[in-house]
Amino acid sequence: MTDVSLTTCNTYEKTEIRTALEKVLSPLGGLGWVQSGMLIAIKANLVSMMKPETAATTHPALLCELVRMLKEKGAEVVIGDSPGGLYNSFAVNRVYSATGMKDAEREGATLNQNFEMREASFPEALVARDFTYTAYLDEADAIINFCKLKTHGMMGMSAAAKNMFGVVPGTFKPEYHFRYPDHKDFASMILDLNAYFAPKVKLCIADAVIGMEGNGPTQGTPRKIGALLASASPHALDLACAYLIGLGVNDVPTLQVAHENGWIPESVDALKIDGNLDSFVINDYHNIHVRRSLQFEGHGKFAAMFVRSALRAVPRPDKKTCIGCKKCAEICPAHIITMKNGIPTIDRENCITCFCCQEFCPVGAMKVHRPLIAKLLNHKK
Ligand code: SF4
Ligand code: SF4
Repeated sequence: MTDVSLTTCNTYEKTEIRTALEKVLSPLGGLGWVQSGMLIAIKANLVSMMKPETAATTHPALLCELVRMLKEKGAEVVIGDSPGGLYNSFAVNRVYSATGMKDAEREGATLNQNFEMREASFPEALVARDFTYTAYLDEADAIINFCKLKTHGMMGMSAAAKNMFGVVPGTFKPEYHFRYPDHKDFASMILDLNAYFAPKVKLCIADAVIGMEGNGPTQGTPRKIGALLASASPHALDLACAYLIGLGVNDVPTLQVAHENGWIPESVDALKIDGNLDSFVINDYHNIHVRRSLQFEGHGKFAAMFVRSALRAVPRPDKKTCIGCKKCAEICPAHIITMKNGIPTIDRENCITCFCCQEFCPVGAMKVHRPLIAKLLNHKK
């Protein structure tokens, strides 16, 4: 059975997308599981009020075509996500407008307007035995996780597994960063969200047509990859996505935890892949190497502690770009950013390196800064 399928998709042109979607889904059985009358929720990545050309969100042209295909099968479709910030009609509808979701609405999809929240109890979780989630997912018969391949300040990469953090209502996200300040715990929590919804998630698709490199997940640079990927497993899909941009299990905490739990092999070589993965690899993809320190963790507690503090990437404002809007100070879950002379100052001792300040800076002024020693040791940009 195919673990991951991938195919070429060079543009967001309608005709190319339809061909690419059909081709990438075919080795996984296509949409044969879809029955007439089903309600299918597409969990897109709608991280913020970002236009499609910024490559921060799942491209609306892909969602439009998938909606058409699902409607042809007689299914009803709801598209949803909980971006950062308030989870209410006003805030989320502004995100729908900015991200081009109204196009998908014109194709017959409903843009989720149910902003109720529910409590989940998940005793078998790795760490998140209880959590709050967006209730609209309960109404769906099945979920399609349609993610965007991007760099990510905290997790190194955002693709399928990270996309499921969007089931946590935006108002609760800062609390979860604070509850799980350790990156591996945070990754475990994300994997718990994936595991909880796994029975309903029939398909994961990655928009890697134009990915995001550099200062992701919102203020990076669009980078053409030219691929669409699909899998039944978010972790297998993520392993393949990571390989495309030059990352491995030790670079992405969600992959590391998935591997430690036996859900994915260490290398894509052990996956059954339909398509030529190597032909899409980008050797100079500009990644954020926040987690190279993971490689040192087998060298004892004190070595690991030293490595964590000496090599850890931290947020740092670029004074030339900063417009003094205070958004970073408002969103910081640890409340450790104060404004001095219009520039944010970070209390480093108490920073939990969640990179929310970097993710939600509207002008990309908050950067992920890697200490020089980390750059020298890892020989990465
Ligand atoms: S959010 Fe960005 S632009 Fe606004 S104060 Fe913080 S660093 Fe400056
Ligand atoms: S300063 Fe930035 S990275 Fe540090 S805790 Fe606050 S939001 Fe998170």
